[in-house]
Amino acid sequence: MPQLRTESNHPDLKNTPSSAYKMAMTTNDEKWMHIALKQAQKAFEMDEVPIGAVLVDADETWNTAACNEVITQQDATAHAEIMALRKAGQIMANYRLLNSTLYVTVEPCVMCMGALIHARIKRVVFGAKDPKWGAAGSLYDFSQDSRFNHQIEVTSGILETSCRTLMQTFFKERRSR
Ligand SMILES: [Zn+2]
Repeated sequence: MPQLRTESNHPDLKNTPSSAYKMAMTTNDEKWMHIALKQAQKAFEMDEVPIGAVLVDADETWNTAACNEVITQQDATAHAEIMALRKAGQIMANYRLLNSTLYVTVEPCVMCMGALIHARIKRVVFGAKDPKWGAAGSLYDFSQDSRFNHQIEVTSGILETSCRTLMQTFFKERRSR
């Protein structure tokens, strides 16, 4: 099993009000991304592509965590983001999840970005980029496309190394079988 590396040190941040604010934001993003990484680890142990997600509301009064389960569920739509959306919809008794933030270890694909737009998610935070499927800036950028009726704020690169290493380890192990 690969060890998850923590990346919580930011020696470059100076002690000014603006960077203190930035640091607080970053720390919170890292806190949630660590939980998404635990979900990704769970997917890894289930022999699923190791991607995890956490959906958090604006006040952090609730959150839902989920991992990729396409093989287990025999469902091509069972990506971590979709699973988290489904759980959150049950909690809120609403498919619209206004002002919530979705944390996911790997950049959302075209399907998931579409679903996140439908759900009116406010912000997406992801770790590693996905040049093959990514629709939050890599292959496509659905986040700021004005042709959609909703735009999503995107932050990338949170705990990127840990998120990417987990994926690389998974595919390396799978190839060597
Ligand atoms: Zn997806």
